[in-house]
Amino acid sequence: MAHLQAIIRFDTTNPPGNELPLAQYLAGVLTRDGIASEILEPRPHRAQLIARIRGNGKKRPVMLLAHMDVVPVEREKWSCDPFGGVVRDGYLYGRGAIDDKGMLSANLMALLLVKRRLVERGIVLDRDVVFVATSDEESGGADGMRWLVENHREQLDAEFAINEGGRTRIIEGGKRYLAIQTAEKISHQVSITARGPAGHAAIPLEGNAVFELGVALAKLREYREPVTLTSTTRQLFSELANVWPAPDVAKAMRGIVSADAAESASAAKVLSRIPVFNAVMRNGISPVELSGGVAGNVIPAEARAMLNVRTIPGHRIEDVCARIGAVVEDPAITVSIESHGKEAPGSDPDSAMFHALSGAARMLDSEMAVVPYLSTGGTDSAHLRRLGIDAYGILPFPMEQSDEERMHGHDERVPVKSLHFGVRMIYEAVRSVSIASSS
Ligand SMILES: [Zn+2]
Repeated sequence: MAHLQAIIRFDTTNPPGNELPLAQYLAGVLTRDGIASEILEPRPHRAQLIARIRGNGKKRPVMLLAHMDVVPVEREKWSCDPFGGVVRDGYLYGRGAIDDKGMLSANLMALLLVKRRLVERGIVLDRDVVFVATSDEESGGADGMRWLVENHREQLDAEFAINEGGRTRIIEGGKRYLAIQTAEKISHQVSITARGPAGHAAIPLEGNAVFELGVALAKLREYREPVTLTSTTRQLFSELANVWPAPDVAKAMRGIVSADAAESASAAKVLSRIPVFNAVMRNGISPVELSGGVAGNVIPAEARAMLNVRTIPGHRIEDVCARIGAVVEDPAITVSIESHGKEAPGSDPDSAMFHALSGAARMLDSEMAVVPYLSTGGTDSAHLRRLGIDAYGILPFPMEQSDEERMHGHDERVPVKSLHFGVRMIYEAVRSVSIASSS
């Protein structure tokens, strides 16, 4: 908790980030425990810190990753200083408490524990344990993970990585589940453009581009991409069914993985009503911007809508666009890909690290359900997966949905008692993949 408070007190609001002083603080903490680290500076005031505890090299390293930057605050909406590290009513408040300084502190503690409890007691590790703290995650990582991948790729070699992106959720009735992010949806921008005759607005024209675009959007409003159940989603629903409090939803979670097509289809309908489940089951299409028109008395020749389309790994955006074109079914409309998200493979939900994380969680709470999870948002893990690293997203602090929703919001906070759980979970998972005969 002392480290997390200290870390929160460094204002690393991005932009501008200014993560260097925090990186220097981390280096100081590590030096006191005899752990060497290196600070890499992509430009003044920005930094990545990499520290390594060496193993015997039998296995490829395990990486503990977290970002040091945070999103801006609206200070007047906070009930306390967002950079004060205030403890109140069992919570530690501060920007970054759960995104991502909480995990940064837990990773730091886990690394110190590996040094103190294993290395200093003569236990040999089968692999290096690498601690990576990055800058600029919240603005796309050009001065952070992307820069590291392009300039210091050799430092990132690892078999496994633990990063943000999952959930340890307390649900109704006090039950808990751990959702380990093993893959993420891929984000693309797609435009639909209507073209029609231009002219004086005083003479209404057939085929006005704005009307055509409106009709196309109305058709898309009724359209859903087909349900795609990946092995991750199947495992997610069948495990969640065991702890989910609402009986109709729990029944649908069981039904959707059923071999009976009719049962699966009706279950999909129930789950589709919950936006986040709808989003993990199919490619998502969200209109986000509109443009067109030049003046109050001119019929424009063009009107355009931008769609954010998020695909499930393995789906081609070109195919989604073809389906959008077929739904719109209008020769005056063109559908084009404006930016093409980069494909990243999923991480193995049956690896030693996945089992180590679930084992650690169940050691701390024997009733904990553990599920692999396809996240609808993006993290730095996509970069790592493209390098062939099995990255797992967690947020190792048990908390309720309402606390989790403060991420990027006001009065962000972490339950103080969950810090212990988080540190233990990461430490135990690292220990069990790094020691041959772990017991
Ligand atoms: Zn984050």
